[in-house]
Amino acid sequence: MHELKDNQSTSTDFFGAHATRWLGLYGVKPAFMDRLELFTDSVKSALPDGTGRVLDFGCGPGVIAMAIAESGYDVVGMDGAELMIETARKEQARRGIENAEFRVMDAREFSIPPESFDAVVCSSVIEYVEDDAALVKKLIGTLRPGGRLVISVPNAASLIGKTEDLLRDTVVFARRAGGQHLGYSRRRYRRVAFLKLLQSLGLGSFACTSFEVPVLGRAGVAVSRLKRVGVMLLVVGRKGAPDATADHCEPRRTQKAISRKNLWEEAPRAVRRLIGRPLSLLPRRALLGRGFRQSLDFVEEAQWWPADKSRDYQLAQVRRVCQLAYERSAFYAKHFDEAGFDPRSIKTLDDLSCLPTIDRDDLRNNIEAIYTRSPDSRGVDCVSTGGTGGEPLRFCIGSDRSGVDFAYLVSSWQRVGYDLRTPAAVFRGRAVAEDSRGLRHEFDPILNTHNYSAFHMSDENMRRYLEHVRGLGPCVLHVYPSTVAMLARFMRRHSVARLEQLRGIIAESEIVYPQQRSMVEDVFGCRYFSCYGHSEKLVSAAECEHSTDYHIWPTYGYFELLDDKGCRISESGRRGEIVGTGFINSVVPFIRYRTGDFATYVSDRCDACRREHVCIRDIEGHRTQEILVAADNSLIPWTALNMHDDTFAYVRRFQFRQEVPGRAVLRVVPGVGFGDEERKRIIKSLDAKLQGRLLLSVVLTDAIDVTPQGKAIYVDQAIEGIPDGWGGEEPEMPLGERRPAVSVERG
Ligand SMILES: [Zn+2]
Repeated sequence: MHELKDNQSTSTDFFGAHATRWLGLYGVKPAFMDRLELFTDSVKSALPDGTGRVLDFGCGPGVIAMAIAESGYDVVGMDGAELMIETARKEQARRGIENAEFRVMDAREFSIPPESFDAVVCSSVIEYVEDDAALVKKLIGTLRPGGRLVISVPNAASLIGKTEDLLRDTVVFARRAGGQHLGYSRRRYRRVAFLKLLQSLGLGSFACTSFEVPVLGRAGVAVSRLKRVGVMLLVVGRKGAPDATADHCEPRRTQKAISRKNLWEEAPRAVRRLIGRPLSLLPRRALLGRGFRQSLDFVEEAQWWPADKSRDYQLAQVRRVCQLAYERSAFYAKHFDEAGFDPRSIKTLDDLSCLPTIDRDDLRNNIEAIYTRSPDSRGVDCVSTGGTGGEPLRFCIGSDRSGVDFAYLVSSWQRVGYDLRTPAAVFRGRAVAEDSRGLRHEFDPILNTHNYSAFHMSDENMRRYLEHVRGLGPCVLHVYPSTVAMLARFMRRHSVARLEQLRGIIAESEIVYPQQRSMVEDVFGCRYFSCYGHSEKLVSAAECEHSTDYHIWPTYGYFELLDDKGCRISESGRRGEIVGTGFINSVVPFIRYRTGDFATYVSDRCDACRREHVCIRDIEGHRTQEILVAADNSLIPWTALNMHDDTFAYVRRFQFRQEVPGRAVLRVVPGVGFGDEERKRIIKSLDAKLQGRLLLSVVLTDAIDVTPQGKAIYVDQAIEGIPDGWGGEEPEMPLGERRPAVSVERG
């Protein structure tokens, strides 16, 4: 107790003595300015109508408090250091701020009327206090129900933080004034544990980011968002968030593990080019890694297993996944207990049907409780996926799944003549810059892919793309159904000769419209081959080489087709929802997960190819083909803009609204933590792909309509001439020629 007093009074004295110096830093130091923006933005998005009462607890010289006051909120700033409050009051008078008030208080004995604030800001305070939980509880007590706590603490995951800890007791470090405050800090916080603490005190709907790097200036601000880098953690939580779906936003932003694949993909283009050539001389199987090689060998053999052998394998995997989930995931432990389901008692695959299915909302509302191991551990990627209802879903997955997943794809593609030596011409979502000849093309020597920009599908570019593909020799096209339809229409319009060397067209990620498929096959004169899968890695399926029925890979995940009563369908011709239990993701197990995709049951084996796989057809889901229009009337597939990074991390729903070619409004329902920074980030990361082809503006809104079936509409397309369900009907002429071009505003 005595120690506590000492520590607290000396830290207060210390901070008092540094009041003026710190005040000055907020104007010049990027890290300080960033902190200021993070806090003010968080308050603004917590109280979007611009009014409300805000408490800044431990306000120091009042920098954050005054910025919030200048944004229109009524602010009370409190601090234990008299000198700090004095400094704050002087600055307040100088700036003529009237809606702020500064008070001296004692952190241990302050009293504030309960439920009297709409938001409480607490910037780097509780780490200096012995009983931090008691203090946070008090602060939450001062919030009205639904109010927000915006709090920052030292980040335990930060490598820079760990280095500081190592150095802080050494003489060299302590002599630097910049590091001295660390001597008073009692602890760092692990994110998950801290969120659990806040949750136990009545907060929910968290948003979370790391920030602050003491060096590197602006570059430091950029890297500080990496959670192993930023020394601080900012958390925004809502008091009593009773309706979890009403207002939520996962605290986790996307991150990537240090894996070969991630390093390669993140490497600058110049680096990829430099080391790509020598790498391409190595056998591709070797380049793709051991996980891939082992999986491919396994898949090649397992696809011919008799059904009972596959079922034994599935049973073992289902048991493994369920036991792992039960032992390690708090969410599943509760879920299983409530259902009276004991994973050790699974005797047959039918036993799994005792367990209720789960969906995206279950996952989203329990995301921190669902992990079987810390998402901070090695080898874990966080990914994002668009979804039914238009709400992005984020979750973590082992970075080792890529090799496994790719093995299934390669084995599927082999049905249309692909092998690892065959180049693929790719028209998908990758942003591709112009090469030295002005062609938007980039070669990836590891995957043996030629990537072309799907964002630049003008007639001139398509002509050049096709010419380039013609020069590749035998190859396959890897496409979205919408991008290959654009190419086929162009070829038909301009009577472009077929690419005779093409072995097949591999289409993924969007719904396939039968009319579109036959048009494409007609123009290209080769097989259109569709595959089905998810970022969640639940179920993987590929068409048969002899028909367009999808064969479900039995060793990838456990597949069920359920009717609207939840009963399993196994009669030919009946339709149901695809429900999957994935075998690949052991970080977030997906067990009896409803995909929102529907299909028709065909059979449990294929007589044509003799694989004893479940066969389905007519898959329909949320991945519709939606189209945006560039200023030159060329089309841009929405799927290519479906960002799998953290672009939409702080967004609940979004939708593009387009009325004229070349421009679109991105309507956004902001989540907690959404601020100006997020808005800028969205524009920036979309523009990295669009490169000016579409001028975007972001408009905030509180609701976006979905279809009566609850599906999202990603593009509210108002330009005449694009039929609803773009691919459903096959227009005779392309947009630009069918009717006079819509007059385009410019400038
Ligand atoms: Zn078959």
